[in-house]
Amino acid sequence: MNTTVTSEFTQGLPKAELHLHIEGTLEPQLKLKLAQRNHVDIGQKTIEDVQKTYDYHDLASFLAVYYPAMNVLQHEEDFYDLAWAYLQRAAANNVRHVEIFFDPQAHTSRGIPFATVINGLHQAVVDARALNVDAALIMCFLRDFSKESARQTLAQAMQYRDKIIGIGLDSDEHNNPPLKFARQFEDAAAAGLHLTTHCDIDQKDSIEHIRQALEIMDVERLDHGTNIVEDPDLVALAAQRKIGLTACPLSNSFVSPDMKGKEITELLKAGVQISINSDDPAYFKGYISDNYYAVAQKYQLTQAQIIQLAKNSFNAAWISDQQKQLYLAEIDRYVQQFQG
Ligand SMILES: [Zn+2]
Repeated sequence: MNTTVTSEFTQGLPKAELHLHIEGTLEPQLKLKLAQRNHVDIGQKTIEDVQKTYDYHDLASFLAVYYPAMNVLQHEEDFYDLAWAYLQRAAANNVRHVEIFFDPQAHTSRGIPFATVINGLHQAVVDARALNVDAALIMCFLRDFSKESARQTLAQAMQYRDKIIGIGLDSDEHNNPPLKFARQFEDAAAAGLHLTTHCDIDQKDSIEHIRQALEIMDVERLDHGTNIVEDPDLVALAAQRKIGLTACPLSNSFVSPDMKGKEITELLKAGVQISINSDDPAYFKGYISDNYYAVAQKYQLTQAQIIQLAKNSFNAAWISDQQKQLYLAEIDRYVQQFQG
């Protein structure tokens, strides 16, 4: 029986991706192509030049590279091309289901209409069926923007309610607690949207933010959220409520000294629905299978643990129980075949 964790095994393993920023999938090649197509001067002319700018040591220095790059996204077809390029990679990683984050305010704030963003992304989501990938969109508020901006963004989103599965919260967490957007989350929940929020690693108020998200705002998932291990009562609550935690090991290794592998294994042991995801793969140099493989290698995860992480990704996904059973059976078949 073959129970080793190889890169071939992690690549072929059926999985869901629940923490993926579409703007973070902008590969240097596509960035240059869109810059040319839209006559945007990004200051770099070759792939190597663009790659040299992908140099950061914390969240702030990453965001300083990340947001200006979005200027190359101007038209509906640009958003389509961005999402389509990611979805092809997702298919190659055997991502069977993906819930894609997008940040409308990063685009509307520079004059791009909400409709341009959502229509381009949505068409790619529809076309992904041809790739055998089931995709959906989660709209995130930028937490360093005002409540009023979030309110307006949610109002715009309501015109496209059927194209959005849930809402999230991302960007700079420093002094921007989840509770700042309690009202918008309440309104979104009333409209039947699912709720998640980033609780980034090692923030000044990580535990307080996790507490607000779980105890007051009733979110269904935490994006990152691995600092929860510091509070056993919150870990027990997350396990009991089947809260999904979406860890991103390679992303963590860029902004902190490690991949949070110890926290991931501890949460697995505690029965928390933690999963592995790629966050901003073009910037953190690895798609989802690379993330599974990297964390497995570094922390010597067993094949059983890797399988559990993949099962968690479907169990924490916003899909029906029937769909979950189909995907879980797909994992079992894959593992049987692989073990021979
Ligand atoms: Zn993220």
